[in-house]
Amino acid sequence: MKEPLFGKTLAQLRALAQELDAPAFVATQLARWLYKQGASDFDAMHNLPKRLRQILGERVEIGRREPERVSLSSDGTKKYLYPTAHARFIETAFIPEGERATLCLSTQVGCKMGCLFCMTGKQGFQGNLSAGEIVSQYRSLPEHGQVTNIVYMGMGEPLDNLEAVLSSLEILTSEWGFSLSPRRITVSTVGIIPAMRDFLKRSESHLAISLHSPFDEERRRLMPVQNVYPLPEVLAALRESPIARRRRISFEYIMFDGLNDTPRHAKELVRILSGLRCRVNLIRFHPIPGTPLASSSEESMVRFEQQLKASGIMTTIRASRGEDIMAACGLLSTKALVGTGREVDY
Ligand code: SF4
Repeated sequence: MKEPLFGKTLAQLRALAQELDAPAFVATQLARWLYKQGASDFDAMHNLPKRLRQILGERVEIGRREPERVSLSSDGTKKYLYPTAHARFIETAFIPEGERATLCLSTQVGCKMGCLFCMTGKQGFQGNLSAGEIVSQYRSLPEHGQVTNIVYMGMGEPLDNLEAVLSSLEILTSEWGFSLSPRRITVSTVGIIPAMRDFLKRSESHLAISLHSPFDEERRRLMPVQNVYPLPEVLAALRESPIARRRRISFEYIMFDGLNDTPRHAKELVRILSGLRCRVNLIRFHPIPGTPLASSSEESMVRFEQQLKASGIMTTIRASRGEDIMAACGLLSTKALVGTGREVDY
């Protein structure tokens, strides 16, 4: 198999140019063709010498992934199925909303974290995506020109695949790449502390932390990661990290009926977040097969929101999108396709 070019950073393209005895500026030309022009073959790269194009064609491939299937929700959300290495698949959600259009990217095939409320967690882990596979979900999206915001909240734990995620962010935000503002990109995590510290140092994008309960025992039941990186340590790491004001830290809070939606929970949440410049996003739970968890009522969610707001915490209830095509939060899964090879329809 030839090595893919799509997903290489400028530094990696420079190393390749050097290996091929080509001048360093060839790297910038290649980046332009790959990311700005969207070239799908080397013949299109007419400002590169013919001999170099030939050598490139023999040594490497463009390697951009294209979606194989799309599902359309009644609310306009679309879910795309992308192939990855070793005949595996991931899902990507495109969520248009008035002036805004959000793209929800996946970073792993399945996930190791095993959160109780999540279909991807139930799938188990089948592999990391490369930077090229992450960025392909943006560039190969038919609507990529409409995307205003990107969230790394699809399949997988982004900070469990840190280097590929950082490379993908570099490509999306660099002038030689897609020139998107890092302020339009949010990366989520369950709170893997060493990788979170690294992410805060080495990128400029926003960070969203999945919180879901302020109480140790409860969070442990919902999210096994609490056994390794307990929430108080995650919050302490955030308090110690220098974070520029323009960067946003948010906490994601999926609401479960009777489990984490009581006034006692809101009070404790206010206490543990005190002094942190942050916002809280309340998310409706979308029940998944075989879980005892149920979704909070609208009334409980609004009451919880008001309690947080009254204590000075910026809080929003996130609109639920794409539930009918299993594209909503926590519902992405390609488990049914694991081991089936590439036998899917477009
Ligand atoms: S919620 Fe995120 S981290 Fe948890 S299992 Fe699902 S994909 Fe993994």
